[in-house]
Amino acid sequence: MATINSNFLKLKAGYLFPEIARRVKAYTESAPDKAARIIRCGIGDVTEPLPSAVRDAMHVAVDEQGERSTFKGYGPEQGYEFLRQAIVDNQFSNLGISADEVFISDGSKCDTGNILDIFGKGNTIAITDPVYPVYVDTNVMAGNTGDADDKGAYAGLLYMPCTAENNFVADVPTQKADLIYLCFPNNPTGAVATREQLTAWVKYAKENNAIILFDAAYEAFIQDPEIPHSIYEIEGAKDCAIEFRSFSKNGGFTGVRCAYTIIPKGLTGKAEDGSDISIHQLWSRRHSTKFNGASYPVQKGAAAVFSEEGKKQVSELISHYMGNAKLFREACLSLGLEVYGGENAPYVWVGCPAGVSSWEMFDKMLHEAQVVVTPGSGFGSAGEGYFRISAFNSRENVEEVCNRLKALIA
Ligand SMILES: *Cc1c(COP(=O)(O)O)cnc(C)c1O
Repeated sequence: MATINSNFLKLKAGYLFPEIARRVKAYTESAPDKAARIIRCGIGDVTEPLPSAVRDAMHVAVDEQGERSTFKGYGPEQGYEFLRQAIVDNQFSNLGISADEVFISDGSKCDTGNILDIFGKGNTIAITDPVYPVYVDTNVMAGNTGDADDKGAYAGLLYMPCTAENNFVADVPTQKADLIYLCFPNNPTGAVATREQLTAWVKYAKENNAIILFDAAYEAFIQDPEIPHSIYEIEGAKDCAIEFRSFSKNGGFTGVRCAYTIIPKGLTGKAEDGSDISIHQLWSRRHSTKFNGASYPVQKGAAAVFSEEGKKQVSELISHYMGNAKLFREACLSLGLEVYGGENAPYVWVGCPAGVSSWEMFDKMLHEAQVVVTPGSGFGSAGEGYFRISAFNSRENVEEVCNRLKALIA
């Protein structure tokens, strides 16, 4: 008899985005004449085409695969040196990270989930509320939680509420945690952490022998020069942090797939006998056993993000999306709504009008304005009373959504 991993049965069936899709489908079936009017500002997926510098590099790489003399089969599991070196030179210069501490993959979603393979049972896992749902669900699958309560909170996780009071940056907990998920700039709230706040986290992690899992998928959207882009800008972070980065949101690689994880060689975790074990070695073993490398043309495309042309084109993409975020912020502020994020991140986090819940606001915007947003409560109970608008869209759509919002709420 083949048994299953019963941890999967603890997962809440109504995962956020399928529920949104279900409601949008039900609405378009009930009002087919309105279907063409729907504008999606829900799922965090890019909309603008892949930069030409990336496409050109990928075309060349595909042609190389067509010649015996330049054909490449399996590449290094950890990723090609040309890409790992380009990452270090362009993103981590002066931070003491070396190319062999970079692991190339096909996505940060997988990396943030897969990393749990190398950690033991019984760790206290600290997770923000609201949160990117992947961190929670992968811990449920790995057996690191008990059951969910009726609000969707899992027993055994240490939830760190992010609210208007702490400006959506979790305070360092009073309890001890072993693994801590931090995401800055944040999805869903668009919040960023200051140098002082990250310093407090690194200090906490070192005092507790904890490891910070730092998701920096949105670092390219930071506009404020005082905000750190990497956890390794904080002294001591190399002893207590793993950083996840992705080409998805800066280079528009959501459909191309390339990301990377930084694991400093000095980072250690405890074996059952109390000895210190290199996390880098464990991840290297895991990665090369279960992964056969990102594709060569994709890695060539990713490296082109750091070319002169590539940098210029990526910066234009970021400006485009941040211009959208600014329009959303201004529209919501002009309506007297509470507005967070959108200044260093492509997400604007908006308070619902008084007395309106996240899902009520979602339904109102869908039914009355044909605009799809993401209900804040879908990211955790502390997200109740908020909704997230994604700036990943065309300017035309954003302007139209702003007009519809004004007509809806004014
Ligand atoms: C989009 C996103 C990523 C990137 O995921 P990929 O699998 O690399 O596309 C990582 N973390 C967060 C929080 C995200 O929103």
